[in-house]
Amino acid sequence: MKHYDYIAIGGGSAGIASANRAAEYGKKALIVEENEVGGTCVNVGCVPKKIMWYGAQLNEDIDRFGPAYGIHVDNKQLDFAELRASRQAYIDRVHKSYFSGFESRGTDFIQGHAEFVDNHTIRVNGEEIQGDHIAIVTGGRPALPDLPGIELVDVSDDIFAWEQLPESVAIIGAGYIAVEFAGVLNGLGVDTTLAVRHDRPLRQYDQTIIDTLTEEMTAAGINLLTEHNVAEIKESNQKLEVKFQEGDVLEVDRVIYAIGRQPNTDKLGLENTDIQLDNKGYIPVDDYHFTDVPGLYAFGDVIGKVELTPVAIKAGRTLSDHLFNGADKFFIDYDMIPTVIFAHPPIGTIGYSEAAAKEKFGDDQVKCYRSNFADMYSAASTNNRRKVTMKLVVVGEEERVVGLHGIGFGMDEILQGFAVAVTMGANKAQFDQTIAIHPTGAEEFVTMR
Ligand code: FAD
Ligand code: NDP
Repeated sequence: MKHYDYIAIGGGSAGIASANRAAEYGKKALIVEENEVGGTCVNVGCVPKKIMWYGAQLNEDIDRFGPAYGIHVDNKQLDFAELRASRQAYIDRVHKSYFSGFESRGTDFIQGHAEFVDNHTIRVNGEEIQGDHIAIVTGGRPALPDLPGIELVDVSDDIFAWEQLPESVAIIGAGYIAVEFAGVLNGLGVDTTLAVRHDRPLRQYDQTIIDTLTEEMTAAGINLLTEHNVAEIKESNQKLEVKFQEGDVLEVDRVIYAIGRQPNTDKLGLENTDIQLDNKGYIPVDDYHFTDVPGLYAFGDVIGKVELTPVAIKAGRTLSDHLFNGADKFFIDYDMIPTVIFAHPPIGTIGYSEAAAKEKFGDDQVKCYRSNFADMYSAASTNNRRKVTMKLVVVGEEERVVGLHGIGFGMDEILQGFAVAVTMGANKAQFDQTIAIHPTGAEEFVTMR
């Protein structure tokens, strides 16, 4: 029987990062992947989404801001087939670079579905393979509710397979994917409705920032329906009819559901191991991604904590550093993860929202600094200005920055550097000591009063 030091079941962000790191330490490492190498992020997530986000931004900006810069594009056309081709070519290059990385490190890759035979044996394509250390990094897939007509809807995976853009869409959901695709599709010229169950999307994020998001979404032409719950979906005259419990009906070409994801733990033969799933099907792990079973680990989307590629990568690399190179176990502080929601405009956020900080540290311990302005890129135009909102949430007398949030042009690129400062425990005075860079939006974070 073949034997490996380390096996990753799943060739997504988590599996690739951890197996490659194990191989770099001279260990015999294997990745088993049933679909395309790269997993969700590369094939139906971050990568194709970001290409479409850039495309949508460009398409929108030519009309919205071009004239202020003297740029007039008559007969502008969007060829979606070309956008798809560029997107796929980019993905193909990423696949290629993964395979050359496996080759240079000596990481083995098998295409096939893996199932456990026992705690330390898996079966792939009919062959049994043993591993001393096995990581269950099988990620997740879109979740769907049980309601009439749900078989008619698309999920995020389907959008990437569209050959043509629809004329109109209704997006149901209130998280990252719903908000990002609302901006992308609207920016590509699709008549876009976003329907959320409560008063706003992205409710867990700082409300000041989300207020600006909803204003900007509406200004950009997105039809935002709040307090809307779907009752049923029906086909009607080659269109889809979304009937809401509140009584109104929307007729669109496509309905997209983006209401969260569920873990891929159901077809893994876990019943042949000693792993016990939690009540939502996720794999329970400790702070260091060890399961209760010696030699079995889980991280990335399959543990249901924070579903982001860099989090999966960090967990995977640091686990291999520990297992195979003597490093200490690495603790990921899931409360302090920088993240960007690629809305139009983007949101960057790390740490506690104002409401979460008050709940954790007490109202009297928390102070907020804010800044609102129009970004300079749009300020050249007189009637099309786009808002930026930034906020620092500080705690205690020393004013330690425990939350940094912003929405606006460039926030996607601004956040990473500030995230270093927040992770290091910087306080407001240290932000203020830093000389600003002018003229930028980022300088507001070091000049707030
Ligand atoms: P995955 O990448 O899902 O990999 C798991 C792999 O396991 C899959 O390829 C699957 O085929 C394979 N697999 C499952 N079961 C088996 C089996 N039994 N045998 C063999 N193989 C198996 N994150 C960001 O940080 N930034 C973004 O901009 C971003 N955008 C996103 C946009 C969308 C539309 C989506 C859906 C997600 C996005 N994410 C983003 C989240 C990010 O993609 C995930 O957090 C990340 O891919 C998780 O990595 P993973 O390795 O845990 O899982
Ligand atoms: P999210 O978990 O972000 O959001 C889903 C939201 O949908 C819920 O918070 C809920 O909000 C709403 N919802 C839940 N059930 C229903 C329902 N039955 N009907 C209507 N609305 C419902 O899920 P996503 O699918 O958007 O994304 C999954 C994860 O992928 C994200 O959390 C993120 O970690 C990752 N991702 C990251 C990206 C990035 O880094 N830029 C981009 C895309 C995805 P409410 O309670 O307010 O109704």
